Amino acid sequence: MNVYDSNRIAAILRQLGYMEASTFRSADLIILNTCHIREKAAEKVFSDLGRIEQIKKERAAEGLDTVIGVCGCVVQAEDEQIAKRAPYVDFATGPLTYHRLPEILAKVARNRGITVIDTEFPAESKFDFLPAGKSQGGCSFLAIQEGCNNFCTYCVVPYTRGIETSRPVEDVLKEARRLVDEGTLEINLLGQNVNSYHGEDASGKERSLAYLLQRLHEIDGLRRIRYTTSYPADVTDELIACHRDLPKLMPYLHLPVQSGSDSILKAMNRRHTAGQYLEIIGKLKAANPRLGFSSDFIVGFPGETDADFEATLNLVRQVGFIQAFSFKYSRRAGTPAALMPGQIEEKVKKERLDILQNLLFSYQLKFNKDSVGKIMPVLFEIKGRHKGQLIGRTPYMQNLHAELDNNNLNRIVSVRVTDATTNSLSGVMEG
Ligand code: SAH
Ligand code: SF4
Repeated sequence: MNVYDSNRIAAILRQLGYMEASTFRSADLIILNTCHIREKAAEKVFSDLGRIEQIKKERAAEGLDTVIGVCGCVVQAEDEQIAKRAPYVDFATGPLTYHRLPEILAKVARNRGITVIDTEFPAESKFDFLPAGKSQGGCSFLAIQEGCNNFCTYCVVPYTRGIETSRPVEDVLKEARRLVDEGTLEINLLGQNVNSYHGEDASGKERSLAYLLQRLHEIDGLRRIRYTTSYPADVTDELIACHRDLPKLMPYLHLPVQSGSDSILKAMNRRHTAGQYLEIIGKLKAANPRLGFSSDFIVGFPGETDADFEATLNLVRQVGFIQAFSFKYSRRAGTPAALMPGQIEEKVKKERLDILQNLLFSYQLKFNKDSVGKIMPVLFEIKGRHKGQLIGRTPYMQNLHAELDNNNLNRIVSVRVTDATTNSLSGVMEG
């Protein structure tokens, strides 16, 4: 979501006449787009800002003015700390107000030396004010939903991105058609809780994610569709049927479970049990046996016992995720879990994370190894580190390197997989 927001921020700035600078030293305006989900990400903002302040000073010595801005969720949660700890920041704006950048920059120009802060939850939707987003190449993100009403007890998102809102169906389709016209082959629909999408159609009727997927599927030239991130309890039978009926919908689903223990899931305020999660996975597999799953996990949530953790490992063994993201529980001020008894020591969190990751990686490696010898359609997105090498993604979101001409960038190419590690595949063009 932050990559998407950063692209939209760049589009606003381009409209104002800004161009991308190749180095920090040559930039008149530096914006940090920030994440508040875990403490580490939030703290990194302040160390990065320290380095940027240094650049501002060096430029000032040469008589150059530098405007420093901070965007994103850290601003929403810590606007006062930013003004206090980094007074050289010229403006700070939350994730729902960055469409106001033209006014904010004008205010900054009029009031040099004062930090302009905008952390309102605005009545208007930023999407109605953003300039047309440019296609990001062969793959583009498209935000369709923002915010979250789930209030998992560990999570800052409902407080930083606000309550859940969905963009109207026609707006999404229009943006998708434009991206495809500009060369996008794959669209990844984004939202904090994307499968609770309920945007209005032209007649004012609320429509589901399944409906939106069906409409997007009709767009000629669009080859691949994905959606991220889904909430297990909001996976409907209609959505499951899409995985059976829509060939452009990629056979990979990111469905965060967080824990395999029912008592921890309850304390997290998740609206699913481990059993219900497995049932949903079963239904999805029955609808499309080719589906591969990925997930998010938190270890060391307050009160997590060895038995709770073992239940998580068990769930992993039952699903055999092909990819996963796992985190140590991070105590976030203002969330209910931060005040819960039974906070887990850092040492235990680390031990559990290592055990979980070893298990997850073993399944990921096995899935990647099983891909060797197969022919897969790969969408090449970027140039590799070595000359003549391109990097793309398989339908299962595996990174794949191949020796290929640059004219294969932003194209889908048939590749025979020749080798595999935990994190990537290599292959050669087929035929
Ligand atoms: N809406 C998505 C996830 C959004 S946040 C969902 O509900 O699944 C992305 C991931 O960050 C979460 O799935 C969770 O695993 C992790 N996360 C969120 N808050 C966290 C915290 N306080 N500590 C550690 N991990 C956290
Ligand atoms: Fe956070 Fe996801 Fe839970 Fe929403 S559903 S509160 S975004 S973890």
